[in-house]
Amino acid sequence: MTRLLIVGPQGSGKGTQGIRIAQAFGVPAVSTGDVFRGAVADGSELGQQVKAIIEAGDLVSDELTSAVVRDRLSQQDAAGGFLLDGYPRNVAQVMHLDEFLEGRDEELDAVIELVVPRDESIARIARRAAEQGRSDDTEEGIANRLAIYERETAPILEVYRTRDIVDRIDGVGSLDEITDRIIAALEARGLGRTAAA
Ligand code: AMP
Repeated sequence: MTRLLIVGPQGSGKGTQGIRIAQAFGVPAVSTGDVFRGAVADGSELGQQVKAIIEAGDLVSDELTSAVVRDRLSQQDAAGGFLLDGYPRNVAQVMHLDEFLEGRDEELDAVIELVVPRDESIARIARRAAEQGRSDDTEEGIANRLAIYERETAPILEVYRTRDIVDRIDGVGSLDEITDRIIAALEARGLGRTAAA
């Protein structure tokens, strides 16, 4: 049973590393950004509600986002643990998640903080924009998301640091090097990979 959160600025590689780490630990990766993008692509009611917000690089409301996460974590595959990517993204969402997990007598085991210098993350987002054409990877969208990260998301790390569950990981290097660093830090906490990994 491993419950993880990965945090990092846009372009830090948290989505890619999140999937790798989730696989290694045999838990589902739950990315709120992916859930919202999927809903927009499907044209579902949720998608219609969040499309303009995502394109501007703003945050979807805490209530809606937290409801989406509660639903997802209530599915059977998340009963044995999960890796959250992109949620919580502000201190209010930390409190929503705490309340939800407390209700299940659970807590986060570790928070992976991916540290990438600002120039490097901007360069990576620009590359992704060229390759994938994400609709929020415009110049304004990127600047807005980085500003929101500094203002709203970085403070959640301070909350988790007081609980001694944050591992700061250097996010510069090859994909394999970074994955190995994260796994080493989690193993040092006594968190184990699954045999299948
Ligand atoms: P991401 O893929 O994590 O960069 O998320 C893409 C977009 O989805 C963000 O810019 C927000 O508009 C929205 N989003 C993702 N996670 C959250 C969250 N926890 N709270 C509010 N909005 C979110």
